[in-house]
Amino acid sequence: MVKMVCIDCGAIEHEAESLREMLVMMMPHYFEAHQDVIASHKTNPSSAWMKRFTAAFNHLLEQE
Ligand SMILES: [Zn+2]
Repeated sequence: MVKMVCIDCGAIEHEAESLREMLVMMMPHYFEAHQDVIASHKTNPSSAWMKRFTAAFNHLLEQE
């Protein structure tokens, strides 16, 4: 399990076993607090944010 805080504000923390699961768990928070990220993700799924999210998750995974 990887424990990860919101990469944009650090206000919430979730545990998940995969990147996809972590994304799903973070989504309700993003809809509530980071509408700008949701908007840009819809038009560009391979956005800089997605790269940042993936890098943060993989970094935590390596520390396991
Ligand atoms: Zn946040």
